[in-house]
Amino acid sequence: MKPPNAKMQVSAVRSGTVIDHLGPRTAFKALKILGIAADATVLIGVNLDSSKLGKKDILKIEGRELTEAEMNKVALLSPQATFSVIRDFKVVKKFSPTLPDTVEGLIRCVNPACITQDPRVTGRFLVAAKKPLKLRCYFCERSMRENEIEFL
Ligand SMILES: [Zn+2]
Repeated sequence: MKPPNAKMQVSAVRSGTVIDHLGPRTAFKALKILGIAADATVLIGVNLDSSKLGKKDILKIEGRELTEAEMNKVALLSPQATFSVIRDFKVVKKFSPTLPDTVEGLIRCVNPACITQDPRVTGRFLVAAKKPLKLRCYFCERSMRENEIEFL
């Protein structure tokens, strides 16, 4: 039998990051692009009811605070995501990252002939539209829609 407070125990993060308002079914992709280790303690909620989005995913990552670059990556995947930094069960910081105007690195250009396929060249992409997301490669001017974005 489960102890009566089992739900409380699994839903709280002692120290780490909670990513809320992820688009539905993006949580696993977010884990992948963040490179969360296979042995990390992570709680994943998929297709939860959200008054803001209808449905949403949520990620709770124990023992990990995200860098700005990591949050930007997740924002490209799910622009409305919010981030809370938890220390000793308390929210110490909350972020709603805004998509930058340009993205350096992070993603791969879809054009196989693009100069950025050379690993020595850092890709640069202009955010041409935010909703729906559209990026344009600074080097070859190839446009990419949201479903074409491939993270490095
Ligand atoms: Zn390109």
